[in-house]
Amino acid sequence: MLSKILKKEAKTIGFVPTMGYFHDGHLSLIKTAKQHMDVAVVSIFVNPKQFSHNEDLDKYPRDLKRDEEMARLAGADVLFHPSLSDMYPDGYATYVNVEGLADTLCGGARPGHFKGVATVVTKLFGIVKPDIAYFGQKDAQQSIIIKKMVQDLNMDIDIKVLPTVREKDGLAMSSRNMYLSEKERKDALCLNQALIKAEAAVKSGERDAVKIIKMIEGIIKERPGAKIDYIEAVDTKTLNPVDRIVGETLVALAVFIGNTRLIDNTILNP
Ligand code: AMP
Repeated sequence: MLSKILKKEAKTIGFVPTMGYFHDGHLSLIKTAKQHMDVAVVSIFVNPKQFSHNEDLDKYPRDLKRDEEMARLAGADVLFHPSLSDMYPDGYATYVNVEGLADTLCGGARPGHFKGVATVVTKLFGIVKPDIAYFGQKDAQQSIIIKKMVQDLNMDIDIKVLPTVREKDGLAMSSRNMYLSEKERKDALCLNQALIKAEAAVKSGERDAVKIIKMIEGIIKERPGAKIDYIEAVDTKTLNPVDRIVGETLVALAVFIGNTRLIDNTILNP
């Protein structure tokens, strides 16, 4: 309803979908939306359909009061916080699946995850009717899938992807970082450190994707508390694995630090 009024008034809508528990990564998306658009809409919804049964849905951090204040200070005009039954009333039956792209990397490790993401984002797009939606490079596969979905389903929405915001020591900001103990927080640095070494290797001429992956693996395995979920070098459009790093290549990884699954990535472009 609000979106319809805004459209009638020819106001542009920028949209930032989130699961809340804000950090500077979220805030950079909100600030950019506010900077470029008339109205910045932020949603907070911890979407059960993108969690498997054995994952952290119940313990996912939530603090609506804190988020409201942070979003307001970052320039959000509207905070949309739907309930579970608003989004999925009894008898809910419709799903969106981006075939292929949703089945590799995090989709391989978390079956059904991106079906949940694509479904909720489609619903949020239908409600908010944004002109531009903002996503973070931190979830690289997610933004690639959303771009493909928008194209395939003729959604008239621009998808903008903003750089990963990091802590001073390089750890990618994530709501899940709060699960880490002090020791794990130190171990978690290996994700970014390994990616930086990969970037340096490509800069100095290495093109063999297997060697790059092995190098990353070696760095991460030095931390006894780290367990690799996956490390892959893939084409940024198809997400197909590459043997050689010649074009734009996404190196993405997921690593368990203790019980906490963290992801990070970099784009290599020799
Ligand atoms: P989430 O609340 O984790 O679902 O994330 C909401 C949005 O914020 C997604 O588009 C994420 O990619 C983005 N995001 C999460 N962490 C970061 C980060 N460290 N830097 C930039 N964007 C991020």
